[in-house]
Amino acid sequence: MRFDTIIIGGGLSSLVCGIRLQRAGKKCVIVSAGQNALHFSSGTFGLLGRLIDGTEVSEPLKALSFLPESHPYSKIGVEKMTEYIAEVPSFFESCGVRLHPSQAPGEGGFPVNGYRITPMGSLKPGWLAMDEVTLLPSKDNMPWHKALIVNFSGFLDFNAGFIAEGLSRRGVECRVEPVSIADVELLRKNPTEMRSVGIARVMTKEGNWKEFGSKVRELVKGEELVILPEVFGLGDPVIIQWLREMIPAEVMFVGTMPPSVPGIRAQIRLKKAFEAAGGTFLQGDTAVDPLVEEGRVVSIHTVNLGNLSLTADYFVLASGHLFGKGLEAAPSKVVEPVFGLDTDFPADRSAWCDEDFFARQEYAGFGVVCDQSFRPSIGGRRIGNLYVIGSEVGGCNSLYEGSGAGVAIMTAMNVADSILEER
Ligand SMILES: Cc1cc2nc3c(=O)[nH]c(=O)nc-3n(C[C@H](O)[C@H](O)[C@H](O)COP(=O)(O)OP(=O)(O)OC[C@H]3O[C@@H](n4cnc5c(N)ncnc54)[C@H](O)[C@@H]3O)c2cc1C
Repeated sequence: MRFDTIIIGGGLSSLVCGIRLQRAGKKCVIVSAGQNALHFSSGTFGLLGRLIDGTEVSEPLKALSFLPESHPYSKIGVEKMTEYIAEVPSFFESCGVRLHPSQAPGEGGFPVNGYRITPMGSLKPGWLAMDEVTLLPSKDNMPWHKALIVNFSGFLDFNAGFIAEGLSRRGVECRVEPVSIADVELLRKNPTEMRSVGIARVMTKEGNWKEFGSKVRELVKGEELVILPEVFGLGDPVIIQWLREMIPAEVMFVGTMPPSVPGIRAQIRLKKAFEAAGGTFLQGDTAVDPLVEEGRVVSIHTVNLGNLSLTADYFVLASGHLFGKGLEAAPSKVVEPVFGLDTDFPADRSAWCDEDFFARQEYAGFGVVCDQSFRPSIGGRRIGNLYVIGSEVGGCNSLYEGSGAGVAIMTAMNVADSILEER
């Protein structure tokens, strides 16, 4: 089977790259092995929350000049970064994924970071958020005095206690109340069903979310803020808006333990947008056994297609970090398992991780060594028609910097444009 471009991996970076190429008329296939980071997403896209020395960043574009040359953003350059950042909201909107910032861009149109409340009750910086996620303009000033936190009876993946504790430390008095809904009670019979997505499916039924909204409305006793778990609007986020209209207070949705309902909704919609543009998505299949000749990839195989090879002019590797199995760690080395690409990691094994869980973890900065155009190498030899995008790209520690989605989207857009320009 022949394509213009073959993309390996089915996460955020792969889908953005595939949609951009396919909409420009290039025939693409995405080979996707399994779940990706969107299934665990906070519902917020990070662009740059802090520098590697710990300095907090409020306007990410202004901070680009402080990044090292090896950083993916430095490779893309300020001009292109500015262009892509401006394009992101309309690109995602065209795929059915609405994103909002915490506030209007700052002076000169620079995006400004906001803060979301985490499931642990702390505040984390973010650039753009999905429908249900609230990005506060400041992490210091809470605009509310009293909050009501409502959970489903028996739902352990939403820890109202942690959220109440976090908000109380910021001067917000919190009251926690449970609500029972008959269809959710049925889920409790099987603990594996009593997860965010199980409840979210039940809550797509009009009678259920309306009953929940009415019960919450009756519980409000003068609180200015109501906090609910992120389990609404799996199919259609308009339910989030309707719930907000039903409840006589500001309504904020806070993340549950994974899986992530807003992340899964975004993944479904991006995949649909790719397919609507004519792309082929091979779900649950793994790219293996590439043929590389004279510095170019000729073909790959997949587990499901067996002997049938996939050929293309260009190949894009978007198979994720350690989490997505795009990288694998052996006792003394880090390998990229599909092509055996050159990787970047500290030679001293003891430097890979810090015993302090909350400290900067060096393993999160492992990645594939790429040139200025995100082309990798094998044994120092560059592969001309292969690009690497997303969390697999070396040169940054996205977990520490809070730049995960930003790196995924920016590298995807940049590589798609490079491929389009080359032809
Ligand atoms: C648990 C978690 C939560 C995160 N939450 C956020 C967040 O809330 N906000 C944020 O900004 N960033 C977040 N990040 C950072 C995240 O890395 C990026 O946001 C981004 O989604 C990464 O996308 P990706 O396409 O690079 O990789 P991934 O999403 O990891 O996707 C890689 C895909 O490649 C597939 N794959 C691997 N090998 C093969 C193969 N051989 N053949 C075919 N497919 C293969 C995997 O199955 C997977 O589906 C999170 C990261 C993790 C790990």
